Amino acid sequence: MENIAEYKEIVDVIKESGGDAFKRCFQCGLCDTVCPWNRVRNFSMRKLVRQAVFGFTEIESEEMWLCTTCGRCPQQCPRDVSQIESGIALRKVATEYGVFPESVKPVRTAVGGLMGEGNPLGEERKKRGDWAKGISVKTFTDEMEVLYFPGCYPSYDPRLIKVALATADILKRAGVDFGILGEAENCCGESIRKTGDEELFKRLAKENIKTFVDNGVKKILVNSPHCYHTFKNEYPQFMVNFEVIHISQYLFELINEGRIKLTGEYAKKITYHDPCYLGRHNGIYDEPRDVLKKVPGLELIEMPESREDSLCCGGGGGRVWMETQKGERFSDLRIEQAMDVGAEVLVTACPYCITMLEDSRVTMGADEKIVIKDITEIIQEAI
Ligand code: SF4
Ligand code: SF4
Repeated sequence: MENIAEYKEIVDVIKESGGDAFKRCFQCGLCDTVCPWNRVRNFSMRKLVRQAVFGFTEIESEEMWLCTTCGRCPQQCPRDVSQIESGIALRKVATEYGVFPESVKPVRTAVGGLMGEGNPLGEERKKRGDWAKGISVKTFTDEMEVLYFPGCYPSYDPRLIKVALATADILKRAGVDFGILGEAENCCGESIRKTGDEELFKRLAKENIKTFVDNGVKKILVNSPHCYHTFKNEYPQFMVNFEVIHISQYLFELINEGRIKLTGEYAKKITYHDPCYLGRHNGIYDEPRDVLKKVPGLELIEMPESREDSLCCGGGGGRVWMETQKGERFSDLRIEQAMDVGAEVLVTACPYCITMLEDSRVTMGADEKIVIKDITEIIQEAI
């Protein structure tokens, strides 16, 4: 930072942004003992909080961009420092001043895509509903039971399109009266908010809310725990309340109501990876497991770090768009954990987790040893 006046201004903003939350920290270090970064490199949330209290944070440093917002350290903090919100406050300052370390720069590409086309992948808005071409999925109308909101990755990413197709197939076979918004759907905005771009989040959220209201949407079904989290816990700040249901919860309901019958076998050893935004952030641990346990022939094995202690995949907090060095990817560790318990299939329920885990599976050369599946893909095979 060459300009000293500007630097002092930034220091003041950092001091203000932490507010009282930073100041409650008494430097016990419990956050650092659970943070997954300390498995792969040195990182100290405790130190970041201390620097922010005194305004010493180096605005250009990579440190403030590492947190995946996994939610483990807030569980431990005895002083309610709200590390995630405090960390985002620092990112807001960097975003405001346009200061980004090299590994964070890909976020600017995601921002460009979100602003121009409503998705971080830079794909064309008018192609958002193309995944459903040829399988006769209807456009949502207000008489329908549920809006299916696949989100960005299942709409465009070739691996995740399989999840959208599996979901639509299950819904049809269960006789659910559902529709999609196609090109009228926008990114939910959850992850860009966690990178500190509050303005873009608000813009995406307001556009989605207008679309939901104009189309008479009441119940929204999502694949992504990130869409779930923001629709359920963050959109209400705009004075709206939609019923939001994650696919794992909906599958549980459909099976219990007898609308889905699991007659096929899936005779494999599987383990379930709890996505941070489904588990720790929203307490949904049981439904995915209960659904999987109903699949004939399936053997569910738990990894030691599961449920509240689940190991983050590394993709939250906008990290899915940032560069993570080889050897520092949490998803590599997760694949090893799954193989260590003898799982043939690693199942999860989040498009980001699938993206991170699939990438690790290939780069680790484990593609012959383990398969990554979304919960919908298992159920589709078992119906
Ligand atoms: S756990 Fe909380 S109080 Fe302890 S060092 Fe971390 S932020 Fe500070
Ligand atoms: S929320 Fe997770 S990634 Fe972020 S500092 Fe805490 S433990 Fe580390």
